[in-house]
Amino acid sequence: MSAVVFDEYGELPRLREVAEPPCPEDGVLVRVRATGVCRSDWHAWRGHDPVALPHVPGHELAGVVHAVGPSVSRWRPGDRVTVPFVCGCGRCELCREGEAQVCADQTQPGFTGPGSFAELVAIHAADTNLVTLPRDVDFVTAASLGCRFATAYRALTAHGRLGAGQWLAVHGCGGVGLSAVMIGAALGARVIATDVNPAALARARELGAEGSLDASAVTAVGEAVRAATGGGAHVSLDALGSPATAVASVESLRRRGRHVQVGLLLGSHSTPPLPMDRVVAQELEIYGSHGMAAVDYAPLLELVAAGALRPDLLVGNVIGLGEAGAALAAMDHPAQAVGMTVVEIP
Ligand SMILES: [Zn+2]
Ligand SMILES: [Zn+2]
Repeated sequence: MSAVVFDEYGELPRLREVAEPPCPEDGVLVRVRATGVCRSDWHAWRGHDPVALPHVPGHELAGVVHAVGPSVSRWRPGDRVTVPFVCGCGRCELCREGEAQVCADQTQPGFTGPGSFAELVAIHAADTNLVTLPRDVDFVTAASLGCRFATAYRALTAHGRLGAGQWLAVHGCGGVGLSAVMIGAALGARVIATDVNPAALARARELGAEGSLDASAVTAVGEAVRAATGGGAHVSLDALGSPATAVASVESLRRRGRHVQVGLLLGSHSTPPLPMDRVVAQELEIYGSHGMAAVDYAPLLELVAAGALRPDLLVGNVIGLGEAGAALAAMDHPAQAVGMTVVEIP
């Protein structure tokens, strides 16, 4: 089969013929029809997030079940599916409780094994991890849910418990942030977006943000959000993942507000100086959000199938598999607000 492979970190990933992956005993092979190009793939390619070399990237996939392992009961060849970027083991207590997104024995295609920049990809524990794709949701749209849209949806609904008429602050308007803006607006919330890039803020307003704030133009972002929202946001998201945006997000909240950390805080960024005095005195809630388990996809996909949510509007480019390596390498020079790239395989 054809797959996009890199042998060394930072070397241009190339399309070449490789052996088909074996079908896991408890899993399936998915014939990939679309797969998103994500900054997480770029981190793996650059070696920030080490993988076994040579490596096939790709974790935001949709396609058709091609082969089924002997212990799989729920899936058959021909089923249209998508998959969360975190795949649970299917056996542990968390997986049985529907919390596969934090399974300690998780697999992640494109990180713990070969990914979906390929004609076929292996998915483990298929009965736990596959999601049926409604007929009305095409493969490119499903791939565009990727990690960003599904993660933003779960952050706002499961953790944020965002209600209609409530204020949502979104810090950082990249892929996750713009997804959160769109979902927040669709849920009937009033959204204020912050970023340092005027083009990203303009895009946030197009996607439903009522207010926008240039974070480079104010000294205290949290205070500015509180002033603009009549006392603070009910829910605030750090969609970027930096000490400054994490602190600004917590400081944006009104009393009893909920901060959700979605942007990764890695290495030296991992311990932001959050104002815990404010957390205690105002009974703020602090959550981390790590993707979404397969069992939680149905309400999101219903909103997409009905056209109430349009993740396809966040897609900037649709390319072929042969261009995927160059698209990944192009993330060395991030151009914000141009939209995500999705690889489509006919
Ligand atoms: Zn598990
Ligand atoms: Zn991703």
